[in-house]
Order: sequence, then C-alpha cells, then structure tokens
Amino acid sequence: MTTQPKTPPARPGYFGPYGGQFLPETLMHALKQLEQEYLAAMADKTFLAELHRCYRDIAGRPSEMYLARRFTEALGGAKVYLKREDMNHTGAHKINNTLGQGLLTLRMGKKRVIAETGAGQHGVATAMAAAVFGLQCDVYMGTEDIRRQALNVFRMQLMGAKVIPVSTGQCTLKDALNEALRDWMASAEGTHYIIGSVAGPHPFPTMVREFQCCIGRESRRQMLDIEGRLPDVIVACVGGGSNAAGIFHPMIDDEQVEMVGVEAGGRSKKLGDHAATLCQGSPGVLHGAMSYVLQDADGQTAPVHSVAAGLDYPGVGPEHSYWKDIGRVRYTSATDDEALDATVMLSRTEGIIPALESAHALAETMKLAPKMGKDKIILVCLSGRGDKDCNEIAAILEKRGKTE
Ligand SMILES: *Cc1c(COP(=O)(O)O)cnc(C)c1O
Repeated sequence: MTTQPKTPPARPGYFGPYGGQFLPETLMHALKQLEQEYLAAMADKTFLAELHRCYRDIAGRPSEMYLARRFTEALGGAKVYLKREDMNHTGAHKINNTLGQGLLTLRMGKKRVIAETGAGQHGVATAMAAAVFGLQCDVYMGTEDIRRQALNVFRMQLMGAKVIPVSTGQCTLKDALNEALRDWMASAEGTHYIIGSVAGPHPFPTMVREFQCCIGRESRRQMLDIEGRLPDVIVACVGGGSNAAGIFHPMIDDEQVEMVGVEAGGRSKKLGDHAATLCQGSPGVLHGAMSYVLQDADGQTAPVHSVAAGLDYPGVGPEHSYWKDIGRVRYTSATDDEALDATVMLSRTEGIIPALESAHALAETMKLAPKMGKDKIILVCLSGRGDKDCNEIAAILEKRGKTE
C-alpha cells in the first residue's frame, strides 16, 4: 500500500504530473482571484459556518448511512452500506458543490453564474443555488442533451435559469464546457463559472473535491459510530470524479481502506463506445488541465458513450489520474448492461431506484461482495436517484423483453 501523501505539496494545483492551468492568459487573473478567495473562505469560520448551514438546511445533510440488508443478503457476502446522496435536495451529490461555489460567488461580489451541463443534473443544481442566493444564471447545454433531457431543461427554466443551446462538435457536455469557458473569458469580472466536477484548471479540482468532502467526512464518522471501524472497501462511480473524490479523500490516508472507482464501460471496449477514461485513456490536456483523456491516435478527443449521461465525459479529474498512477485507488468499469442489472437489483431488493451513474458502483459491488466474507464491509456512494432515468430504463428493459 502507498505511503505517499494525499496531495503532493511541491506545486499547488498539481497532483504528481497532473492538473495545472492550461488556459489562455485572459483567464489567469480570474483563476488567481478564485484561488485566493477560495483559500481565504476556507480559512474563515463565518464562511464555513454558513456553508454548513446550507448543507443542513438546503441540501438536507447529513445524508443517511444505510445498511442495505436485502441487497446484502441477496449477494451473500460482505455487508453493503449505501451513502445516500440520492436523498439530497435535487437528487444527487451535485448540490454540495453548487452551494459551496454559490456562497463563494456572493463572497466575490459577483452577480452572475454560468455552468455547463450534460444530463442536466449539474445545471439543475446550479439553477437551484442561483435561485436560493439570488444570482443570475446561464447554463450551457448541448442541443443533443437538450433534446434528451427535456425535463431538466424545464426544471432549470422554472427556477429562473436561462439554458443556452450549444450546437458545436457532438452537441454534448464537452462542447458545452468549451462554450462556458469562452463566455467566462469575456465575462469573468462579474461572473463566476461553476464547474460541475473535479475537472478543469486549478483551483477547480481541489475546490470541488473539498466541497464534496462532506460525503466522506460524514461517512467516516457514521461508519465509526455504527460499526466501530472503517469499511474494508469503498466503491464509487467516476464521471469527472467528484462524488468519488468526495467520499475517498477523507479516508485516503487510512491505508486499510481499499478504494475502487468505477467508470462507464458502455457497450464495448471500442473507442467511442465507452467513457472509461482512466481504464483506457492516456495522459493529455483537456479543459485546462493535464489528466487522463480518451483520445484517438492523432490526439483528438474521442467521442464517448454511456447509458448514464452523467458519466459521459472523455476526461477525468487530475487527482484521480494521480491516485491511479500511485496505485492508491483501483479503477475499473461496468458496462451499460451491468449497470441496468444493478439498477433492477437494488430497486427490487431495497425499493431504491438508483441513478444509472450510481448503478455502475453497485454493479462492481455485485462482483465484489460475494467474494468477501460476511464480516467484511463495503461502502457504496449512491451518488443520486434514478427518477431522472426512468424513461431510459423503461425503454431499455422493454427492448430486452424483461419488463415482466
Ligand atoms: C453527475 C453525476 C455523476 C458523475 O459525476 P462525478 O463528478 O463523477 O461524481 C455521478 N452520479 C450522479 C447521480 C450524477 O448526477
């Protein structure tokens, strides 16, 4: 097991060789200002007290640590606990980050926020934060995603956000992120850009991880309360990597705790058919940071696919790339089919419909638990709920002829 420190101290904004700020000069000032404000805020007791009030009163934290009894019984091995981020207001972990960055926006005296969104979950969480803090909100979203996620587009608009269609490239998340960065280059003076995961240039990977660390800090305390010890394994799905970083980081120095990140294996191992960036990608620069990227032989960012729209991203947070290289976290993938099976399994055994993203972590748990003794404990980050996915799940199950 590794003895490396969790964050290498030498260069701020770097995790080993990964991270950094690979962006045009015009944004360097905004990034510097953001870093300074963020560091000052995290050292300010008033800010932290307000953040915790928002976590409690708005998000509904702490989220439950739930023993999945019938799911555990069905698997016949390790005890499975679910960290219930699906119970947060707006239905996923994304609100932890948008509340934090929303408060930071107020602190910076800015009046407008922008965001990129794929499936719409981060857009909805940003629109919610903008409504509650009284900020103007513009969300960039690919036209393909707007078509697929009509309900989330409506939710954002109902909460007062403007959804700006992006029709460049594949018309999806990566393209929306490019457009949001472009907006920010021209508007940074009065606008804060709320990136939705632990990706992008420094300080975003550190800042978003820190706002998500409430997941892992609560989990640590709850596990010690309930079981008197830490879990043997923690499993989380990885898109950009924010829910995983949030649950891993507070226990990353607890060397007895194994950690597994599960990426989207999609429909095959062919480039373009999955979004398993750490499992199958290679180091490169995307959206302002050095990290693993899915790219073709010419270094062009590859198209990606997953049944879970929230995992459909060709990059990944730089800290995960570092954890992969030093062997602290094991990264694997689950296929679309495995995620679907896990969704049905959790729905039937626990009456909990998981988000298709979270179902990737459950799929890995279904492989691990039966091989482990009944005295072992697996903690799964149930990053979100599946209400948003019900149309998709129904369509696929119907195709499979499994709706009996
Ligand atoms: C967005 C999303 C993810 C993927 O994002 P990460 O930054 O990897 O956590 C996972 N689960 C749910 C429910 C999501 O909405």
